[in-house]
Amino acid sequence: MLSERPAHPAHPRLSRPPDPRAPVVVVGASVAGLIAAQRLAESDIPVQLYERTEPPGVRARTLIVTPELNRALGFSAEAATVNKVHTLQLYGRHRSVAISLREPDLIVERTALIGMLAARAERAGVRLAYGHEFAALEPDGDAASVAVRRRGTDCLERISARAVLAADGVRSHVARTFDAPPLPAVTVLQARVELPRTSDPGVGKVWFLPSDTPYFYWLCPESARTAAVGIVDVKPRQARAKLDHFLARHALAPFEYQSALIPLYAPNMRVTRRVGRTDVLFVGDAAGQVKVTTVGGTVSGVRGAQAAARAIAKRTNYGWESRAVNRELRLHWHIRNLMNRFRDREYDVLLQVFAGRVGRLLEIHNRDRLERVFWSMLAIQPRLPLLAADVLWRVR
Ligand SMILES: Cc1cc2nc3c(=O)[nH]c(=O)nc-3n(C[C@H](O)[C@H](O)[C@H](O)COP(=O)(O)OP(=O)(O)OC[C@H]3O[C@@H](n4cnc5c(N)ncnc54)[C@H](O)[C@@H]3O)c2cc1C
Repeated sequence: MLSERPAHPAHPRLSRPPDPRAPVVVVGASVAGLIAAQRLAESDIPVQLYERTEPPGVRARTLIVTPELNRALGFSAEAATVNKVHTLQLYGRHRSVAISLREPDLIVERTALIGMLAARAERAGVRLAYGHEFAALEPDGDAASVAVRRRGTDCLERISARAVLAADGVRSHVARTFDAPPLPAVTVLQARVELPRTSDPGVGKVWFLPSDTPYFYWLCPESARTAAVGIVDVKPRQARAKLDHFLARHALAPFEYQSALIPLYAPNMRVTRRVGRTDVLFVGDAAGQVKVTTVGGTVSGVRGAQAAARAIAKRTNYGWESRAVNRELRLHWHIRNLMNRFRDREYDVLLQVFAGRVGRLLEIHNRDRLERVFWSMLAIQPRLPLLAADVLWRVR
């Protein structure tokens, strides 16, 4: 384990870079790493980005994201958008409600999104090295150097780093060098299926079936012909059997599976470390920047990564720069703690509430900006705080 110089308890600002000409080293060229690298390069900071896979790198994955993605990126991800969903149909055991979205959700193909981001990062001046795996972080005078290994060789390259951005996902190798405990995580398993002819490709579906999973099943249409159907589960071994059973019940035949671990955000996670005077900042899945209500990490990861880039560029406090996304993540964490205790009856009540004025608010405000409307929802619908009180009371 790396012996770490204790950082200032309050982390007032990032430290003065040991060598301002040294690059920021970013580990991981997926969504979070690429957008952070681009932002740093746009601030005239040299950036060296290492990705262990060869291009196109990450595996294909169908994502459903809110239109907040385009606003967070600062440009349109249209080229990676394969479909748009104008309605979310939510199902409980005995009730169903449709939420018509004022701005449609985007169905994005992750490989295409990453390709777009990589091209933009390189245009901004980021030096991107594929096939290079992070191996170690070592003290180097009063700074730190990052050791990377060219895949398939034993050769280590050492780069003196002005700062390090760890964007290497849920099982971050950078975190392991600090002996950090693994982040809590859930399994996401999704199958690609043919969309039944009777299904509207503009309608996404979510099923809350707490006897199967405290999370949910979903269907995201990728086009008029195919869809991704998935489950989030805390018990990885059972996810496949449950999903196959669910698919059979809905007469859907899988032709491909996609699966991975997704970290769960928790308040007070440690996302900043320091080696000598070199700051190490964790972003995206490596920092658990995932909304735990929907287990979506794309938009919050982008917002977290940009906050880290701002903190490095301006030498400010990462916590301060990421306060907006952290407030949002904390709210989702509180809601998830309640939802984990829901039974069928509570989901039925929730969906009934969504059929009224609360549903109208959800049609206008997306789930990446829930904080803006949350208190209004409680104010206009007293059944929501009563529902929460009921669940908490029952658990005690
Ligand atoms: C099946 C599935 C469906 C999902 N659906 C949605 C969805 O609908 N909406 C949504 O918002 N989110 C969804 N997510 C979550 C979302 O994909 C992640 O939150 C997001 O991709 C995280 O991006 P990231 O850049 O932080 O990390 P990652 O995408 O995990 O990238 C980490 C990168 O680091 C690289 N790396 C790892 N170790 C090293 C090393 N030692 N050296 C160098 N490089 C390294 C990896 O190769 C990878 O490129 C889904 C996830 C899964 C698994």
